[in-house]
Amino acid sequence: KTEGRSRFAFFTPEMDLDVRSREEIYRELRVALADRDRQLELHYQPIYALEDGRMVGVEALLRWHHPDVGLVSPAEFVRSAEETGLIQVLGEWVLHRAVEDARAWPDLRIAVNVSPIQLRSREFVETVRRLVDEGHIVPDRLEVELTETALLGASGEVARSLSELRRLGVACALDDFGTGYSSLSHIRDFAVDRIKIDRSFVQALNTVPGAALVEAIVSLARANGLQLTAEGVERVDQYEFLKKVGCHEVQGYLLSRPLPAEKLVALLARRHGAGLDLPSRPV
Ligand code: C2E
Ligand code: MG
Ligand code: MG
Ligand code: MG
Repeated sequence: KTEGRSRFAFFTPEMDLDVRSREEIYRELRVALADRDRQLELHYQPIYALEDGRMVGVEALLRWHHPDVGLVSPAEFVRSAEETGLIQVLGEWVLHRAVEDARAWPDLRIAVNVSPIQLRSREFVETVRRLVDEGHIVPDRLEVELTETALLGASGEVARSLSELRRLGVACALDDFGTGYSSLSHIRDFAVDRIKIDRSFVQALNTVPGAALVEAIVSLARANGLQLTAEGVERVDQYEFLKKVGCHEVQGYLLSRPLPAEKLVALLARRHGAGLDLPSRPV
């Protein structure tokens, strides 16, 4: 009953958990996990290749339909989930759900955001291994996204998990690249396959240093044999600049917002694998 319109609501400052204590969020998140079929959902944001405009993958993004607050962005509760240990259960649910949903789009890569806490425990890699062994997913379709900030305090276990995942055939992307304590050593020290250029850099593309920075990131990544995805592409000029400088892939509201699984399936059916129709003018 509360579905329909509300599931497509934008995140606005009113809809947040700010007034709640960590304990309250913890309690409510536990309820959400027990009631996961109703309160939790994954949305999928399409990712497109700049070369030919084809959809090549999706990023799974967690949604919490909070009974009082409405739709809540993970930006607001993942920290709490990490601090209280709930991220383990939550993260496993995300992985299972994503792998299950992904059966409906067998040709697309699927990227899942993972907390370093998940990577620090043996269970995560074991879960992935089991899903792969049981044939629930072809490993090279799966990619885990990890933020740079997460790698900052990363232990040897995180590095080990990442190399084990790579041995399984699962790729790793460095999310929000350029924010936090960017360090080139992350690229060297961890088994990273892809860099995701943070939205803030894409937004700054119309400034001189902004454009130069993105060009520098692109050539750095390419020189190291890494794949590049730019996040938060909202305008045609950004899309075109990224294409011109040799970025590989893009995602952002210009192309598609994150969609519930059934909407993604409908979109795929409509496009029927056809290329992307970009609006002729910046939106
Ligand atoms: P992220 O991984 O960097 O995901 C991209 C965020 O940018 C998403 O926010 C997405 O909805 C938003 N976005 C995409 N295109 C555009 C655009 O063109 N313009 C603007 N303004 N925003 C755009 P979302 O879904 O609120 O997620 C926020 C963050 O929460 C994610 O950032 C990720 O770090 C984390 N997160 C999401 N799902 C999970 C999850 O399952 N597990 C964990 N541990 N973290 C998650
Ligand atoms: Mg991400
Ligand atoms: Mg990101
Ligand atoms: Mg981000």
